[in-house]
Order: sequence, then structure tokens, then C-alpha cells
Amino acid sequence: MEDGALSANSAAPEAARPATDAAIGIFGGTFAPIHHGHLRLALELRERLGLSQVLIVPAAQPPHRLAPEISAARRLSWARLAIGSEPALAVDDRELRREGPSYTFDTLQELRYEHGANKPLVLLLGDDAANQLHSWHRWRELFELAHLVFVERPYEPPAPARELTAFLRGRRALGVAELQSRPAGLWFAASIPPLAISATRIRQLLAAGRSIRGLVPDAVIESLTTEDIRALTHDEDPAQD
Ligand code: ATP
Repeated sequence: MEDGALSANSAAPEAARPATDAAIGIFGGTFAPIHHGHLRLALELRERLGLSQVLIVPAAQPPHRLAPEISAARRLSWARLAIGSEPALAVDDRELRREGPSYTFDTLQELRYEHGANKPLVLLLGDDAANQLHSWHRWRELFELAHLVFVERPYEPPAPARELTAFLRGRRALGVAELQSRPAGLWFAASIPPLAISATRIRQLLAAGRSIRGLVPDAVIESLTTEDIRALTHDEDPAQD
């Protein structure tokens, strides 16, 4: 794979045993609602990259999309229900405790401060997010704070902007072990067994009055109120398939 491409690395996975001083994964999103595609991504990458834990970080005010009608507090509580007692994952509510747009730069800066200069931090991004990375607040500086791992997503081919491709040149990690050897500055493309689930489709199914069982953790489904469903489906076209 050439530098600059975001397609998955085909090399055999290296053994990646999480150590207490191992890298931490950071996985942000709107999570409206959180679904099994999110959870599998976090769990697969934790094992593959040897991360000690993956932090699920719901955005309070996503800078790149209209604020969802459903509140950040509800999205946060679903994230907590979804991970349950799974020790590999933790929900981080810092973006709800900040004012203003939820910039990933601010989140990584806080985590860098808390964990010190030497701790490897790894930001996990699906391809649709990676394709927009060049428009993120202070995006180049994200690499001063963390490594970035791009993850294949069904129906979202990698299409990095030209300025991102140019920036990535020469920064690609040769393997997952290299991510653990430095605190920040590298990128890596990872593939996971694909799950073609999106929150958009879940909202469309809800709008059509259809089942979302199997797409969303049961604990989340059981907590949905009529008001949640109204807020989630506001502005959403019902699924037609
Ligand atoms: P929506 O359909 O509302 O855009 P979403 O399902 O994409 O929602 P987000 O909260 O926007 O969920 O995504 C958070 C992160 O999870 C993004 O980096 C996105 O690429 C990734 N992601 C979401 N679903 C999947 C999936 N099925 N496979 C891989 N990555 C995913």
C-alpha cells in the first residue's frame, strides 16, 4: 500500500497484547444512536492494535453536521448502556462538559495533558469521517497529539482530500507495533469484518415503525421512549426497502 492511500493494510496482523502502558484508543461520533457497528469497530481495533482500552466519546455539538434533535445526554446514556460492563470500552463524557462545538482537537489536547507526553493515543476514524478530515478544526495538529487509524466502512470507499493525502505522505506506520513505540504522529489503515450498519438506517427503520433488533444493543432498544423515537426520526425519511 502506498503512502497517502487510506485503503486497508493487507499485512498479517501482528500479535498485539494490551499492556497497562499500552496505547489508548479514542473513538468519537454522534452516536444517534450507538449501534453494533460502532461497538465491533472499537472491540476489533482494541485487539488488533493492542490498545489498553477504547474511549467512546459522544460529541455534544458535532461541528460538521446539524445538531441532532436527540439530546447529547440521551446519546451519552445509550453509549453507557451499550458498553455495559465491558472492560475493554469506556464512555468519556468530556465533550458534554465543554461549551461550544465538540472539536476533536480539544478532546485530544485534554487527553494528552492527562496522560502525559509519552502515552500513545490512537484516534479511530471510519472512512466517511476520514474523507472529511481535511475540514476539521486544526486537523493537521491532531497528528501532534495522536496517531490516526482509518477504518474501512461498507459503502464508504476511501476518498481522502488531496491535502490530506499530501500530508499523510511519509507518516504511515509500518505496522501496529510502531503505533505503540511513539506517542503520536503516524497513521495506519485497518480493516475489520464489515458490518453495514449506520445510525441513519436505524433512524429510517424507526421512522417506518420497523424493528431495529440486532442492529442496536438490546439495553438501548429497551430504554427508548416515545419522545426518543420522535427526536431520532425528526427529519428522517422512513426506510423504503
Ligand atoms: P450517521 O448514519 O448518523 O452518520 P453513523 O452510523 O455513521 O451515523 P457516527 O456516530 O456518525 O455513526 O459515527 C462515528 C464513527 O463510527 C465514524 O468514524 C464512522 O465512520 C464510524 N462508523 C459508524 N458505523 C460504522 C460501521 N458500521 N463500520 C465502521 N465504522 C463505522
